[in-house]
Amino acid sequence: METGRLGELLSAVGDELDQFNRFEHPDAHHRRTEWTALTQDGLPEQGHGIDAVTKELLDVVVPGGARISEPTFWGYITTGPTTAPILAATAATLAGPQRYMGTAFNHLEERSLDWLRDLCGLPDDLRGVYSSGGSVANLVALGAARQWAFERRGVDVSASGVDAPAAVYASDQVHHTVQRACGVLGIGRGAVRVVPSDDRQRMQPHALRERLDDDARAGLVPVAIVGTAGTTNTGAIDPLRELADIAHERDVWFHVDGAYGLPGRLDERVAPAYDGVDAADSVIVDPHKWLAAPVGVAATYVRDRSLLVRAFRQEPSDYLEGSMPDQDDVAENSMDVIGVPYWDMALELSAPARGAQVWAILREQGREGVRARVRRDNDFARYVTQFAKGDHRLQALTEPTLSIACIRYIGSADDRDNATIDTLNRRLLRQLIRTTPYAPSATMVAGRYAIRPCFINPRTTQEHVDGFLQALLHLGDRLTA
Ligand SMILES: *Cc1c(COP(=O)(O)O)cnc(C)c1O
Repeated sequence: METGRLGELLSAVGDELDQFNRFEHPDAHHRRTEWTALTQDGLPEQGHGIDAVTKELLDVVVPGGARISEPTFWGYITTGPTTAPILAATAATLAGPQRYMGTAFNHLEERSLDWLRDLCGLPDDLRGVYSSGGSVANLVALGAARQWAFERRGVDVSASGVDAPAAVYASDQVHHTVQRACGVLGIGRGAVRVVPSDDRQRMQPHALRERLDDDARAGLVPVAIVGTAGTTNTGAIDPLRELADIAHERDVWFHVDGAYGLPGRLDERVAPAYDGVDAADSVIVDPHKWLAAPVGVAATYVRDRSLLVRAFRQEPSDYLEGSMPDQDDVAENSMDVIGVPYWDMALELSAPARGAQVWAILREQGREGVRARVRRDNDFARYVTQFAKGDHRLQALTEPTLSIACIRYIGSADDRDNATIDTLNRRLLRQLIRTTPYAPSATMVAGRYAIRPCFINPRTTQEHVDGFLQALLHLGDRLTA
């Protein structure tokens, strides 16, 4: 099992990944009989050895992989990683299998959280903790909010549970992980008060005030106001300053979900829309979105991590803290110190050292490198929107704030109703994905079906974006001919 051939075998996998990265291979679906065959014999009784595993990885598993890293993939909000974080993640797998102890990995965990905070222009009294993604990062932030809100009523909610009906406020564009987090936290999914958004998909502050007033009269405990900095659907940014002011006025926790959009602040054309984020009590951002880290890393920031500890700490254990040297011992070995005890601040004990990936990205590209990418991606969304406005066969359904464009094909005939146009665009998107390299996804904007490219892909160029628009017109014309 220990082969001593990691370099040789990794280099073979690396070569295959470089090959995969040219994206000249057929779609995974066309090769599905190959990869389903890998397991058809059931669990092997006798092992096949490392060379068999490597060969199957190279010949079948990698070529059967996803289109997500392709330069023309713009679906959902996801992309494949670049070289530097792949190297760092690979290194961490063996040299830093856990993020603890007096090691470079524990140090990079903490420093990269600070760098990421500084990159996004957040106040330097915020401290972070990584988790696996925005879903968990939101849960951790709302766990802090819940702890804080109930402590103010004299209840340690983490010890004794939720003892009064509570509410969380978010717009109708909020990511559904907020509802799920409220379910897990015992506040209840139904406790999320859905505040309507305006015609640019931003929460309406006056409607938020009304909800807060109603619930205050009903005696509900307000746990948090959630603003989104870059909604998943259209990339809208809630009026964060107004939300922050309302939260301050009512003494309610203010959480900002910037899983996708927080790095958008680096684009000075959009930066003013982030005014108010500095007043947030908690903020999340996903390096595995716009920064193109390998999937599995998000950061939650709060001002006082001891609140996280009160909300999430483990019971003390003899095998962990109990096995540490006495406090006044001078550390002489990496195992004499445990490093920052992240296990007490969120949901995971064992966890990969994700900070090395984030460090590698920021070390490689610097603030200016990330800014250039963010600006370029925002430019793509604006370009697509302008193009759609300039061609009578297309229609732009949003004015992009960040890097998401929402457009549809309407054709030349003006007697088509909405339902017909929706159906046409559904078919168009399927054909686009099946017959061209271009792979955006879709959404609904104010009841209309939209083809929705989200540009966070580090491999995309202007030629790809132009090719997409031409393909869209070509297929649309053909479908309506
Ligand atoms: C993607 C996203 C999430 C969820 O993050 P995951 O990393 O997919 O778990 C939460 N909020 C927003 C605004 C997002 O865009």
